[in-house]
Amino acid sequence: MNHTKSEQLHQEALEHIVGGVNSPSRSYKAVGGGTPVAMERAEGAYFYDVDGNRYIDYLAAYGPIITGHAHPHITKAISQAAADGVLYGTPTTHEVTFAKMLKEAIPGMDKVRFVNSGTEAVMTTIRVARAYTGRSKIMKFAGCYHGHSDLVLVAAGSGPATLGTPDSAGVPPSIAQEVITIPFNDPAAYKEAMDKWGEDLACILIEPIVGNFGIVEPNEGFLETVHAEAEKYGTLTIYDEVITAFRFHYGGAQNLLGFTPDLTALGKIIGGGLPIGAYGGKKEIMDTVAPLGPAYQAGTMAGNPASIRAGIACLEVLKQPGVYEELDRLGGLLEDGILKAAAQAGIPITINRLKGALTVYFTNVKVENYEQAEATDGELFARFFRLMLEQGINLAPSKYEAWFLTTAHTEKDISVTLEAVRQAFRQLGE
Ligand code: PMP
Repeated sequence: MNHTKSEQLHQEALEHIVGGVNSPSRSYKAVGGGTPVAMERAEGAYFYDVDGNRYIDYLAAYGPIITGHAHPHITKAISQAAADGVLYGTPTTHEVTFAKMLKEAIPGMDKVRFVNSGTEAVMTTIRVARAYTGRSKIMKFAGCYHGHSDLVLVAAGSGPATLGTPDSAGVPPSIAQEVITIPFNDPAAYKEAMDKWGEDLACILIEPIVGNFGIVEPNEGFLETVHAEAEKYGTLTIYDEVITAFRFHYGGAQNLLGFTPDLTALGKIIGGGLPIGAYGGKKEIMDTVAPLGPAYQAGTMAGNPASIRAGIACLEVLKQPGVYEELDRLGGLLEDGILKAAAQAGIPITINRLKGALTVYFTNVKVENYEQAEATDGELFARFFRLMLEQGINLAPSKYEAWFLTTAHTEKDISVTLEAVRQAFRQLGE
């Protein structure tokens, strides 16, 4: 496959854009470096790069593109929004319609507020939790990504339940000291941390189904423990559903799992591919937000009609009967085919899948937490990633990311993908 134009573009981009990319995960650093393929056009399940190569896409822009690229219903909504003027700085009818749609789909949210990204949504839920409780410490799980605001760019320290250390330059140690990081799916570590810090904790931040060290579901009983202890200490629960909302069914993972958190952060899918974030939760907590209450949050672009109308159109597509059943069916075919191909080639893999999202880990050990995901074979993944790319299959360039199916993928796409997987595994096995 020829990547001449991607290479030229990358050299030029390096001169003008930091690292040649506008988000570090787009670089190929996690798969050994090199030139990230630059895309020119996308339609349905396919990407077309600047050299004219076609790929079946499983990146889905890191999650938002669940209806496939350039879905006609969403494209029409965006065109209409553009024709009607893209930004008003006033209330609109669309944002009320959309707030009602979200509330109906995720009943735990009495009130919502729109922002522009998942980062903003999570950052604000933390501020609101701190304002409401009058406490400053927060708790999160190791390996979970919650955007790039200071407080959540904090990694675990050395013990199983420790105060954090900054995960990025520019995050002051004083901020990291406000964050307690514990392993996912470890009720004992959680209880120990709650006994120690529970009364000082404003909130516990949770990806209810993890998407950021691959797809990892909570073990039986884990979320019960999380909620019970949080309630005991008056700590608010915040579900970061930036990846999970509308990914597995029409609603939040919280509905699927049977829990109602105090606050929820949303993003990605709810913008139909345009920039968006939203947060919401219990009325008495949300009423601490300005202009009603003392917790400040604002945004020039917040609730812009283009993102809102794209989001409404996206949810209209997802509300059609059978959407998630089909994503599940295709996900099952993909999972079975990959497992068979790996067994035939003698490649040790583990797949974590929920409906149309899955992660292929190069390990024969079950992956339930970040430590186990970290221990999987990154070098083998990097080789697999490149072998797939060369055969026209675009995956996320990191062993920690998921493959996302869209409503545009077909059974034919799955069989083409599986042929490429078999070929790649054969080469890896040689
Ligand atoms: N939370 C989660 C769970 C995420 O996966 C992400 C982005 N990958 C974010 C928050 C941040 O969202 P954004 O990139 O839109 O700021």
